[in-house]
Amino acid sequence: MTQELLMQKLKSIYGHNFDYSLVKNAYTFAQESHRDQFRKSGHDYISHPLAVAMRLAEWRLDPATIAAAILHDVAEESPYTKEDIEKKFGSEIAFLVEGVTKLKSLRYTDAAERHAENVRKMVLALAEDIRVILIKLIDRLHNMETISFLKPEAQKRIARETIEIYAPLANRLGMGDIKGQLEDLAFPIVFPEEYLWLTEQVKEPLEARLAYTNLLIPKISEILSREGLAPSSIHARAKHYYSLWHKLRKYDNNIESIHDLVAVRIIVQTIEQCYAALGATHGEFPPLPGRIKDYIALPKSNGYRSLHTTILGPEGKIVEIQIRTKEMHDEAEGGIAAHWAYSEGKISKEKRNTLAHSRDLAWIKQLRDWHSNFQDAGEFLESLKLDFFKDRIFVFTPKGEVIDIPQGATPIDFAYHIHSDIGDQAVGVKINGKIATLDSELKNADMVEILIQKNKKPNPKWLDFVRTSIAKKHIQAATKKAKTSF
Ligand code: MN
Repeated sequence: MTQELLMQKLKSIYGHNFDYSLVKNAYTFAQESHRDQFRKSGHDYISHPLAVAMRLAEWRLDPATIAAAILHDVAEESPYTKEDIEKKFGSEIAFLVEGVTKLKSLRYTDAAERHAENVRKMVLALAEDIRVILIKLIDRLHNMETISFLKPEAQKRIARETIEIYAPLANRLGMGDIKGQLEDLAFPIVFPEEYLWLTEQVKEPLEARLAYTNLLIPKISEILSREGLAPSSIHARAKHYYSLWHKLRKYDNNIESIHDLVAVRIIVQTIEQCYAALGATHGEFPPLPGRIKDYIALPKSNGYRSLHTTILGPEGKIVEIQIRTKEMHDEAEGGIAAHWAYSEGKISKEKRNTLAHSRDLAWIKQLRDWHSNFQDAGEFLESLKLDFFKDRIFVFTPKGEVIDIPQGATPIDFAYHIHSDIGDQAVGVKINGKIATLDSELKNADMVEILIQKNKKPNPKWLDFVRTSIAKKHIQAATKKAKTSF
């Protein structure tokens, strides 16, 4: 993308009220900084920050964010420093660029350590300025889109981190569209066999449902216009592959029971019209009992609002229908970014003061308070687990260190996570100060103290209940040694 093309696109998005000279200067400086640098794809390096800036512009973010996106790799990938950026562009943009740079500057050899450190940094950045995270998410999205040029090991590591950290983060910020894209890009790399299996399962049913839905849409349009409703859009949307795969596992891999493989989305102007459209649709196609969800009256915890219903369509086929306003739709796709949309030369006040946004702020404040107020870590970590890392739990050592282990882990898993000697010599455990059995399932925020006895050997029976591969490996190795020494 050239500078002219970028300016054209920005003009079509922002109109007059935008600091174009700032973006131009950022472009010139970034191009100079990345001169003679190339992406692994062979493209000029500048193509990457420009792609990131363009995606952010689609959310109408403010000029400082767009400029920072163009400059986001300058401090790390070029001879220029944060100070150079600050001199040229001021402290706000330098701060944003530094925030993005900091998020990837640490390199750990141990994957678990890197994971924990990344999470910690992400949390801090989030609390400082949400725009750092928005740039970082889109940076990751573009890196995922161009990941095929990297070596397989790097692809695996980056894709796994995308599924474990970035996609849940996007989800938590209400950015459903970005979450789905990140997961679908990482899916074939992290779970290649499962991905292949899914695509084989899905191809035909997906085509059939799309064809069916495309016949249904004009019918719905007709029903709505009879009631005087003129939706701004009615379209079909296919479920993202990765979330479909997860859902399929819950339904015994029976694709027939997935009613939202393809859903119909109706976008109307007002909340009243949402309910009117729901009523009109039900008047023609009976709803399935218990399947009407009113996320307008009761929004999801990430701010998602919409009406969902599942109806019996023509030929007795089951279809999910989602009804929402344009504003709800933008929020569902862009989440928190939608509240940072920039118009009339400033970030719209009303938008930032909406309920969803104050909820976002409350959540971010919670994260920030966590660092100064560690006594409440249990509750904080509980919410972190629920929303952030569904399959991980956080437990404490007696010294108050936080250990992040998979759900279902036992004290033995915990012990081996701390040190192999602790695992090998474990004879008992206290959970929250009370004696418990070594096969107990640990819960979030438990304080775990392993009792050891010198020169004890691991019990092979532990293999029946441990969850982590690290524990399994150690137990197997130690019991093998014990056998040969007899
Ligand atoms: Mn980058």
